[in-house]
Amino acid sequence: MFEALSGKLTGVFERLRRRGALNETDVMEALREVRLALLDADVALPVVKDFIAKVRERAVGQEVLDSVSPGQQVVKIVNDVMVEALGGAGAVGLNLNAPAPIPILMVGLQGSGKTTTSGKIALRLSQRLRRKVLLASLDTQRPAAQLQLQQLAERAGVGSLPIVAGQTPLQIAARAMETARREVYDVVILDTAGRLSIDAALMEEVKQIRFATNPAETLLVVDAMTGQDAVNTAKAFNDAVGVTGIVMTRMDGDARGGAALSMRAVTGAPIKLTGSGEKLDALEDFHPERVAGRILG
Ligand code: GDP
Repeated sequence: MFEALSGKLTGVFERLRRRGALNETDVMEALREVRLALLDADVALPVVKDFIAKVRERAVGQEVLDSVSPGQQVVKIVNDVMVEALGGAGAVGLNLNAPAPIPILMVGLQGSGKTTTSGKIALRLSQRLRRKVLLASLDTQRPAAQLQLQQLAERAGVGSLPIVAGQTPLQIAARAMETARREVYDVVILDTAGRLSIDAALMEEVKQIRFATNPAETLLVVDAMTGQDAVNTAKAFNDAVGVTGIVMTRMDGDARGGAALSMRAVTGAPIKLTGSGEKLDALEDFHPERVAGRILG
């Protein structure tokens, strides 16, 4: 991921650094190239415009142009603006500040990696934080979904809600919370049904479950490989149900990276975690400054 973007930006910066003294035209020319590189990487247009405007504002002042290493200064400014676009300094962890059992609601389109990510988060909370975790699938759309989550729970060594045929998602959610209270679980991860695309029925179902369970986190799972579509999906989910964090999967693929750079500006929600493979331990915190470092070389 980010390879093409990184390659282009590194090229622009090398040329800038090599020039020594810079004038305003040099900076504007470099920014034009940065703009094209961001657009090629599928960064949303309003985000690109805002990005370039911020860099321009900070980079064309005489202070920068007259400095000892103006090229280096411009690179630093681009880095700072990129860290901001990615969500600011430092990783934003999961919010577990709620009385147990803490509900975490997983939402997203079918195929985004939602069920796998539920298993990954369960494993992490259980292994790293020693929390007692219950996994519950509210997916009554796909017959195999509940079994898939049960198998993931076994692999992760966490609890899973027994499958009862014929219940609605809301009934399953209520049973999950009751079971968690009775069996003293710390965290309940509720994996909702996905759809191939966004529709009103899906949003209504998620809204009702959210209202009924009052989750500490509503995590939207999006596939980085889907680029602009991931951003549109995130905006639609956020507008309809409100999300508290984003998990971006398939960071191990060759996605161009635009989704990661657009998410914060378009939804306001931070990327909290990323998935980088199919295995249960392929889950990472999202550190904006490290990602910016990877992109800018
Ligand atoms: P759901 O329909 O959203 O619940 O999606 P699943 O969790 O069933 O995932 C769909 C497919 O994507 C499965 O084959 C997963 O193993 C795979 N998958 C999930 N997350 C990742 C990831 O971060 N990287 C890769 N390469 N594959 C993933």
